[in-house]
Amino acid sequence: MKVNFKTYNLPFKHPFTISKGTKTHQPTLIVELEFMGIKGYGEAPAISYYNIPVEKMVEDLERKKMFVEKFAFSDPERYWHYLHHLFPANSFLVCALDMAGWDLYGKLKRKPLHELWNLDITKSPVTDFTIGIDTIENMVSKMKEKPWPIYKIKVGVENDIEMVAALRKNTDAVFRVDANAGWTLEQALQKIPLLKDLGVEMVEQPLAKDNWEDMKILYEQSALPLYADEACVFEMDVEKCYQHFHGINIKLTKCSGITPARRMITKARKLNMEVMVGCMNESSVGTAAIAQLAPLLDKVDMDGPLLLSEDIAEGVGFDFGKIIYNDKAGLGITLKEF
Ligand code: MG
Repeated sequence: MKVNFKTYNLPFKHPFTISKGTKTHQPTLIVELEFMGIKGYGEAPAISYYNIPVEKMVEDLERKKMFVEKFAFSDPERYWHYLHHLFPANSFLVCALDMAGWDLYGKLKRKPLHELWNLDITKSPVTDFTIGIDTIENMVSKMKEKPWPIYKIKVGVENDIEMVAALRKNTDAVFRVDANAGWTLEQALQKIPLLKDLGVEMVEQPLAKDNWEDMKILYEQSALPLYADEACVFEMDVEKCYQHFHGINIKLTKCSGITPARRMITKARKLNMEVMVGCMNESSVGTAAIAQLAPLLDKVDMDGPLLLSEDIAEGVGFDFGKIIYNDKAGLGITLKEF
């Protein structure tokens, strides 16, 4: 097997702000695995609060490339275990390689992954479209620029109720909010009923990721379903979220790929928890991986390519939030340049 990689700095259409800060570009790593003349691709975007910059992914990959190439590839699950032990401290890099392994596997079998997993794509939920934090005027205009059936609104700032109320005046769409750990228990208890009255259907990561004690109180009193994001990173976190959150938001990059994400979905279902898969502003490469899993989910947040002004691949389409699939093998994508 041969490994290649390329790094990109993908520009956002508008600067993207959440409660943790603003960015204008999304650094990302694309890896290519070549086996028997067939090429599979995977992606891992860098997210500053997880402390794995693209440079670190490249450094680790270059240092152990020989071992990645040496593996006798037959199935992606075995490959993930190998990678997981090879890069124990770099889940992002493991994600990119695992995803490329699945793309390669689908291409070797000449089938889209959702077909290999026997999933019914008519069951895929509609994706939301994210509105980052901005002035109220700009948030309203960004929303009007993109008519969509579900919006995910970034909150976690002082005037967030005012922001959501202003958006509500301009649409009947479903709202979700994501506080990105920006509230205290008192703020959450006060804001959540107001958000429910504004037609919000769920709240993502209201409190700090390790504030389990207050989460338990909020879980018992919340008028809206609560989803864990920053508090649910790896497989072992699913159980911790039980009876602290109603659902989990899995991200392929943070959990280290498609392989552990599938196990997390199974585990959450056993605990009667709702499941969402979210994006980290991936290009269409990483987003295509989410699309393959979508029939298994209650909610999906895969608007990454819609927020970017340049995409590096094609294959994932949307029709007013509905995912448009193609019949190409693996992830179903074609890279524009690599
Ligand atoms: Mg989130």
